[in-house]
Amino acid sequence: MGVMLNLTGKVRLVTGGSRGIGAATVRTLAGAGAQVIVHYGRNAAEAQALVEELGAERALALGADLGAPGAGAALFQAATAWQGRVDVLVNNAGIAPSVTVDDPSGDWADTWARTLQVNLVAVADLCREAIVHFRVRGGGTIINVASRAAFRGDNPDAMHYAASKGGVIALTRSIARGYARDGVLAYAVAPGWVRTDMAEAYLREHAEDIARDIPLGDVVPPEEVANTVAFLASGLARHMTGATLDLNGASYV
Ligand code: NAD
Repeated sequence: MGVMLNLTGKVRLVTGGSRGIGAATVRTLAGAGAQVIVHYGRNAAEAQALVEELGAERALALGADLGAPGAGAALFQAATAWQGRVDVLVNNAGIAPSVTVDDPSGDWADTWARTLQVNLVAVADLCREAIVHFRVRGGGTIINVASRAAFRGDNPDAMHYAASKGGVIALTRSIARGYARDGVLAYAVAPGWVRTDMAEAYLREHAEDIARDIPLGDVVPPEEVANTVAFLASGLARHMTGATLDLNGASYV
């Protein structure tokens, strides 16, 4: 008999769930039977369209600007109000703006602050609320979307991005070690290039170099990240807690 992912009866919160990797993850989790909260940043219409596609009994849209301090905590609390609980938190929302050391516009400090706020501090705030909630409920799972950039570094205009994702991996491992005895499981995934809005322009401009760099020959489809998240969320691999799973077609180094 094969292994079937059955997520029926579980409530999941996916941040940045209205498009890209997040939307693929929402569809996969809902397809496996979960009820999903589709968090969005600005585009309520996009999130609402996804909720209508899945059905209001299966999905709920919730907006929050994770660039605002405190927004992550408020979002988690609003999410628990829907069904009285959340079983799995998927921290997927993220930004990747550019700035170089000699950027004349002076946006260095602002770019670092914004990136660390959305990609790391808001993730930590959501994790904190989730841990407190999971402890009372006897357990739960956190899955954080990091990046290959955490391991191999990124281009000079995206050092802040690589640093934020390295922080996410260290945070994930700390949660796994610190709260395993409370039933809290924590995993990260680290994709290389994924074909989404975030990467589209770069992928178009550097298509040949990127294809040459990836032994498997192509960038990661968002659905493969979603499948990996669904597997980690299933409880089938509890002892992998703390792990970061690579998805990069063997382009790790
Ligand atoms: P995307 O730009 O399509 O989606 C990003 C999501 O984050 C959107 O839903 C957006 O609304 C949300 N978001 C951004 N800023 C926000 C804010 N201030 N408040 C609330 N929500 C906000 O990109 P994607 O490729 O689907 O990215 C999803 C995750 O995957 C990100 O964490 C990204 O860093 C990571 N990732 C992407 C790639 C890639 O090549 N696309 C590679 C590795 C990791």
